Amino acid sequence: MIDTAWRQVRHGLAVASGRHIRPEDVSALVTQLRATLDEFGDVNDEQFSEAMARPLDPDIRQRMKEKGWRRTAQNAGRTTTFYGDLFNDLGVDLDDLTLDNLDAVPPTSKAALRSRPSDFVSSAARPALRATTTGTTGRPAVCWFSTYELDLAAAYSAIAYLAVNRLRNEDLVTICVSGRSVVAVRSMLRALEMAGVASQFVGVIDPQQALFNLSQPIGVRGKKDKPSVLITCPSYLGALLDTARAGRFSSTDFQLEQILCGGEVLTAHLKQEAEGFFGARVTEAYAMTETFPMTGMACGSGHLHFASDTGLVETLDPDSLTPARPGSIGVLVMTPFIPYRETTVVLRMVTGDLVRVLDQSDLGCELSGLEATSLPLGREGLRPSIDAERIFERDILELLHGEPPIPLAVSYGIEPDGNEVILHIGSPCPPPLIDRLELEATRRGLPVKRVIGHRNPSSIPHRMLNRALLRETIPVRHDALGTWELR
Ligand SMILES: [Zn+2]
Repeated sequence: MIDTAWRQVRHGLAVASGRHIRPEDVSALVTQLRATLDEFGDVNDEQFSEAMARPLDPDIRQRMKEKGWRRTAQNAGRTTTFYGDLFNDLGVDLDDLTLDNLDAVPPTSKAALRSRPSDFVSSAARPALRATTTGTTGRPAVCWFSTYELDLAAAYSAIAYLAVNRLRNEDLVTICVSGRSVVAVRSMLRALEMAGVASQFVGVIDPQQALFNLSQPIGVRGKKDKPSVLITCPSYLGALLDTARAGRFSSTDFQLEQILCGGEVLTAHLKQEAEGFFGARVTEAYAMTETFPMTGMACGSGHLHFASDTGLVETLDPDSLTPARPGSIGVLVMTPFIPYRETTVVLRMVTGDLVRVLDQSDLGCELSGLEATSLPLGREGLRPSIDAERIFERDILELLHGEPPIPLAVSYGIEPDGNEVILHIGSPCPPPLIDRLELEATRRGLPVKRVIGHRNPSSIPHRMLNRALLRETIPVRHDALGTWELR
C-alpha cells in the first residue's frame, strides 16, 4: 500500500490548493514505511519505483505545472518586493500567466538574488534559517528558509532514503559535505533521523582522517561492521581516492555499499574509479540552495531527471534565454513551487548550470516518465568567452581524469587565448604527459592550444574552485611523538 500512499502524496497533495502540506502527514508516511520495512523487511521496490516515475497523463502534467507556476508567481508578486516591483513595472497580469507566456516574467539572475536578497523574502513566510551558499560558483548568495519548508523537504527526503536508496536502520551514513552547506546538511541529518538511519557528520576534512573514520569498525550492536554509505561531492570523492591510493589504505579497509554524490560535475571516469575501489554503487543527484527543494536524479542511462510537481524546470539558450531546442546546449532555469518553497521565493532562476537538451519522447530509460536533460556539463559563468566550440568543465575533467598521473581532485584553470584556450593544471606535468594531454584534447575536438602544469596550484590563472578545497582544519595527534598538528 505504500506505493499508493506515495502516489497520493506526490500527485494528490501537490495538485491541491497550494496551501501548506502538513509535514506531519508526510512524516506519518515515513512512519508507515518504516513499519512496513520492520514487518516485511522490504517494500515492493518495483512498484514503488514505478509509482515514482510513472508517466503522468501529459494533459494532467501540463495542468499541474501551469497551476503551480501561476500560483507561485502570484505569491511572489503579492508578497515579495522584488517581484512586486518587477510586475508593476512590466504591467504583468498575475491572473493571465500560463506556460505559453512564461516570458512575461523575465528570468531571474543569480546576481539579482545576490545583490537584493531581502527583496526576495516573502512577507507571508516565517523566516527561521538564513543560509549563505558556499561561494565556489561565485559571490555567495543568501537564502532564507522557514521551519515548515525544511521539515517538509526532510520528510520527502526520508521517504527517498528508505525507498529509493534503500537505507536501513543498520546502515551508518557518513556525511562529508562542507558544514557551510547548512541547508543540505540540516536536511540530510533531519531526513536520516526521520528515516531511522544512523548518521555521522564528518565534513570536508583532511582526506586521510576521513578515510580513517570510514575504515573504523562501528562496534555498536544492530549496526553494520563499518560505515556503509557516504554522502559527498565529486571533488572530495576524488581527493579520498587520491589519498587512499597514495597512502596505507586498500579496498579491503572499507565496507561502503553506496556513495551518494552531488553538487558538482561527476565524470564517468571518477564514478567508475570510485565504484571499482570502494566496491560501492555511486548515485548522482543535482540540487542547489537557491532552488531548494528541487532535486534532479541521474538514471542508468546518464540522464538527469526532474519531478514536475515540486517546480518548473526549463532549459534556455544561455545567450538569448529563450527555449533551447533538443540537441542544443541549455542553461537550467528553475522555479521551486509554493507550497514547497515559500520564504526566499525565486521565479525562473538562472542556475548557471549547463546541460544538453534531450528529446523527451526518446528517453527509453527507467525514469522516462520524468522530464530529463543530460547530466550537468558545467557552470556557465566559468565557460571562457571564446568564439570556437564551447568548452565545458565536464570536457576538461574527463580529459584530466583519463590520465592516472594527474590527481582526481586536481585544480585547473582555463585561460582564453584567441579562439582557443590554455589549460593550466595544478600538478607537475612532464613533457610526455603534456604531449598526451594535448593529443587527447585534439582527438576529443577540444579547442586546447596548450597545456601547462603548475607545481603550486595557487599560481594557476583563472583557477576553478571546487568543494574539496573548502577544507575544515582539525587537530590530529601523533601518538608516537605525543604532539598535535593542525591539518
Ligand atoms: Zn533517463
